[in-house]
Amino acid sequence: MPLADTLGRPLRSLRLSVTDRCNLRCRYCMPEEEYVWLPRASILTFEEIARLTRVFTGLGVAKVRLTGGEPLLRHDLPALVALLARNPAIEDLALTTNGMVLAGQAGALKTAGLHRLTVSLDTLRPDRFEAYTRSKRHADVLAGIEAARAAGFSPLKLNTVVVRGYNDDELADLIEFGRGIGAEVRFIEYMDVGGATRWSAEQVVSRREMLETLARRYGSAAPLAGPRDGAAPAERYRLGDGTVCGVIASTTAPFCRACDRSRLTADGTWYLCLYAERGVSLRDPLRAGAPDEELAALIAATWRGRTDRGAEERLRVLDRGALYPAEALRTDPHREMHTRGG
Ligand code: SAM
Ligand code: SF4
Ligand code: SF4
Repeated sequence: MPLADTLGRPLRSLRLSVTDRCNLRCRYCMPEEEYVWLPRASILTFEEIARLTRVFTGLGVAKVRLTGGEPLLRHDLPALVALLARNPAIEDLALTTNGMVLAGQAGALKTAGLHRLTVSLDTLRPDRFEAYTRSKRHADVLAGIEAARAAGFSPLKLNTVVVRGYNDDELADLIEFGRGIGAEVRFIEYMDVGGATRWSAEQVVSRREMLETLARRYGSAAPLAGPRDGAAPAERYRLGDGTVCGVIASTTAPFCRACDRSRLTADGTWYLCLYAERGVSLRDPLRAGAPDEELAALIAATWRGRTDRGAEERLRVLDRGALYPAEALRTDPHREMHTRGG
């Protein structure tokens, strides 16, 4: 019997946040001036991460995604990729990056055994990039995307968080850019996750609106039928010109009922939902010498009790604003998207 939670959802997908640090300050993720970081001594070593991952794969996890913060800021990340690539139970080993330092690492990541790469790209305009991320290095992101292609990451995915008044007029430009380099673009609705202290409902561009915008340019988009992973958050569409793109309606039509994902922060705290108030420390028992069986029993019992449907519950909140004010995030950095891993 596969391990299932209270809603019958299997434990299949694990996001590993390898650092809470980031070299960008995206307005929808890290808009504040100051942040409280996880203490260095609490950060799991690569061996600890690989061991916990083996316990998870022993319980059914088959998909692993490295994230952060910016995962490529973690020193020698390809070494962790190589450790994980040796785990035969991982069918899908992926990484999400902002692309800033990808140019220098794409080849090493490929050699280490990384299967898939997603690069976040919200705008093609350097001036907008600077206004939104506080960085002038837009060209480095494009160079990173090019290096990923050259290293053989195909198909490459590009993630775009669509924010009204920022990049909602760039949907077609991003589609064209993606088509030109053989990458699939996935448009993501702006979420009110922890960390998004500037979130407001007015800035959310819904999936319906995105599809209408794309239809004006390409004709109506056809949902892709056929076998698809029921738990995958992106719905894929074929545009009038044949291009395929994804839309993730994580705010207006969340997919909690099929959610098989959980998240491990860089300090070994395990969260069953992006919105969960509390996590379970796996670092404490690990560092206290618990054998694998004990860790597996803890993980299995916790998953069996899982009831989380964070984004769906947020839909019922009237007068919705940011999930946490900045002060609340400073008292517990685990609530931040950049700590928990997107
Ligand atoms: N730093 C890497 C990056 O940006 O690709 C990996 C971590 S980041 C937290 C992972 C993903 O979360 C990115 O694609 C980012 O765009 C997305 N994200 C962050 N804040 C978000 C928000 N408020 N709403 C929707 N997506 C968000
Ligand atoms: Fe932007 Fe990713 Fe950094 Fe968040 S973690 S600020 S989304 S680059
Ligand atoms: Fe899964 Fe929580 Fe996201 Fe819903 S809000 S899809 S339960 S992580």
